[in-house]
Amino acid sequence: MTCTCQTVEAVPVIRLCQDHHCYWYGDQRRTSISGVMKRVWPVKPSWDSQDTPDSVKRKVENARERGQQVDEMFSQWVVGNLKVLPPTINGAGRRDDAVERLSALMDWWNSRPFGEVNYVATQKIVHDDELAGTIDLVLNCGEYILDLKNTSSIETTHSLKLGAYADLHQRMHGRKVRVIGDIHVTKKRDEPVKVKFREYELSIALNEWQKVREFWSLVRRKTKAAQNAEIDMEPELETAWRREA
Ligand SMILES: [Zn+2]
Repeated sequence: MTCTCQTVEAVPVIRLCQDHHCYWYGDQRRTSISGVMKRVWPVKPSWDSQDTPDSVKRKVENARERGQQVDEMFSQWVVGNLKVLPPTINGAGRRDDAVERLSALMDWWNSRPFGEVNYVATQKIVHDDELAGTIDLVLNCGEYILDLKNTSSIETTHSLKLGAYADLHQRMHGRKVRVIGDIHVTKKRDEPVKVKFREYELSIALNEWQKVREFWSLVRRKTKAAQNAEIDMEPELETAWRREA
C-alpha cells in the first residue's frame, strides 16, 4: 500500500491512509472513532495490554488478518464486483478460512436478512470537522448502518462505534438512520460458520456515543497536549513519524 499522509497541496476531500489508519481532510487530520475510544475509554480490551501473552497477541493478529480479508471480499461481492468465490491460498492468496466465512456470508445475505435493499455502499467514510470513520455497510441510503465482525466475541463498547457512525452519517446526509448493528461471523472448531445479526438500540447508542465524544472534547480542552490531533494518531503512525523525524 502507499501512504497518503503526505499533505502538501492535498485536495480538501476526506481520505484514509491505509498504511497508518489515518484520516485526512486536505492537510488536516481527523481523529478516528477508535482513536477517540482509545484516548478516553479507561478500560482497554482484554487482549490489548503489555502483559498480554504472545500466544494471545498472535491469535488476535491472526483473527484481524482473517477479518480484513473477509471484509475486503464481502465489500466487493455485495456491490457486484466479485462474481465468484476467490481461489484460496494456493491460487491467489486468500485464506481458506476467510473464503469459508465469505461463503457463509453470501448464503446469509442471499436469504435477504434486511428485506428489500435498494442501495448498498461499502467501506463508506463518514466525517465531520474533527472525526472520521469507515462504515462497512450502508443500506438504503443510510437506513441501515452495519459493521462486519469476524472476532469470536464483540467488545461491549462496540455499540458506541455504531452510534458514532450513525451520528456522522445522519449529519452528513440528513437522513434518519433506522437500524444499527453488527453482522457477526463466528466459527467454532469442527462446526460450520455462523452468521447472526446483532442490533443495537439506536437512541441508546447515539446518546452514549454523545457522552463519550463530549468527554473526549473536554479532555482536549483541558489538556494542552491533547489539543493537537496528532496525539490521537494510531501508534504505528506515531512510531513512523518519530522514526522519520
Ligand atoms: Zn500514511
